Amino acid sequence: MPSINLLPDHPRVDVGTIYCIGRNYIKHIQELENEVNAEPVLFLKPAASLITQHREIELPAFSADVHHETEMVLLVGREGRNVAEEHALHHIAGVGVGLDLTARDTQTALRDKGLPWTVSKGFETAACVSDFLPRQSFPDLSDVRFALQVNGVQRQEGDTSLMIFSVPRIVAFISSIVTLLPGDLIFTGTPHGVAAIAPGDRLDLTMGELSATFTVRHA
Ligand code: MG
Repeated sequence: MPSINLLPDHPRVDVGTIYCIGRNYIKHIQELENEVNAEPVLFLKPAASLITQHREIELPAFSADVHHETEMVLLVGREGRNVAEEHALHHIAGVGVGLDLTARDTQTALRDKGLPWTVSKGFETAACVSDFLPRQSFPDLSDVRFALQVNGVQRQEGDTSLMIFSVPRIVAFISSIVTLLPGDLIFTGTPHGVAAIAPGDRLDLTMGELSATFTVRHA
């Protein structure tokens, strides 16, 4: 069963559904020449695609262009259906930082045909997450900075104040479609600066007191 660590006591939390929000930062939408949606763009990753720092990233054989997308990740702690925005934070137990790895060439081909993105977003090791801190460790989820270095060079800097859809809006939106359950994760979208990763790369994620390092397996 895929699971994450919720600090400081390191209880393992089994992970259920992995929700992902796409197109949530203007400059990232512009770099991929996509359109701003009136509602959040929602997709899923299989729980089996989740890894924590003890496993290496495996690049899928079908893609020649796997991109890093660095994102704030929420851990749902309480069941909720049709959650009002003003109550949304009560449903978030933990906050982490992660990578929504994306086979960009595959995604583009699927998108152009109007087909689901699942293969491009849901391959083995495509969801990478740090340990999680309790939500109370982040007094304002609309003012959180996070960053990614690849091989020691800064590649992405995020600031959740620049999100199009806020955390409460995201929780309200998903729970209006289906019940959020304890153990579900929500990837909240990437800022600009996405780019390809290669075998041997070292990816260092930071967000507040959290950090995580992933390496890309040599073929
Ligand atoms: Mg993403």
